[in-house]
Amino acid sequence: ADFGYKKVSREEKTTLVGEVFKNVAPSYDLMNDLMSGGMHRLWKDRFVKKLHPFVGMQHLDVAGGTGDIAFRVLDAIREQEPKQEQAAWGPRSSVVVCDINPAMLEVGKKRAQERGLGEASGLQWVEGNAEKLPFEDASFDTYSIVFGIRNVTDIEAALREAHRVLKPGGRFLCMEFSQVRSPTLRALYDAYSFSVIPVLGDVVARDRASYQYLVESIRKFPSQKKFASMIAAAGFQEVTYENLVAGAVAIHSGFKL
Ligand code: SAM
Repeated sequence: ADFGYKKVSREEKTTLVGEVFKNVAPSYDLMNDLMSGGMHRLWKDRFVKKLHPFVGMQHLDVAGGTGDIAFRVLDAIREQEPKQEQAAWGPRSSVVVCDINPAMLEVGKKRAQERGLGEASGLQWVEGNAEKLPFEDASFDTYSIVFGIRNVTDIEAALREAHRVLKPGGRFLCMEFSQVRSPTLRALYDAYSFSVIPVLGDVVARDRASYQYLVESIRKFPSQKKFASMIAAAGFQEVTYENLVAGAVAIHSGFKL
């Protein structure tokens, strides 16, 4: 199968991405560990640290699939709770995971159960599209999207929606695979991702095409600078980014002021 963006229409892309994540959902966590050598855990820790979770925070994690970010945000909030009197009278913290794919949400819900995170934890799972979020304007303090936005068909629409659902003063934070600038490192990275990842997908997940798609979607995603300008065009201010692993991954940040 060829999932190259240029060869498919927008509707087809949404359907294909749906298929990909339905296929990868059961082996998703294992594949992440194998493909990144466990590094995705460190990147996610770093990301959540940057988000500065606080008691009473209303957080939205879009494309949050299996809950990796949501669980970390909740853990970080809980660590602070005993220290803050605010917990007694302030708004209850809430973490909403929104994902377009019910199969990914199911894996996340199961993991939440295993962790003892029921409704009382403030965690909610909502099926929805990043391009048209099922939330009211100015509902959240923080918005995160981690390894999700490159799968969205209309990235500009998703950024506008992020801006809409954030409260004034709210923060947008996005982690995504990005561009390695050093030519030497880039050659190594290309060799790894184009040969090793589809083979891992084939052997572990029995689905080479989905992993081929993932690698291609990473290559087609805009550069750090270009993506920063798209975030600014959606109305965000103070837009900055930080590169991890030589730019293979980048964290972009912006504020709704
Ligand atoms: N954030 C999680 C993580 O880092 O482990 C999951 C990332 S996973 C690579 C990408 C997720 O994006 C999938 O769960 C997929 O269903 C979701 N997704 C793709 N297109 C979407 C859209 N338009 N709106 C919301 N979620 C979407």
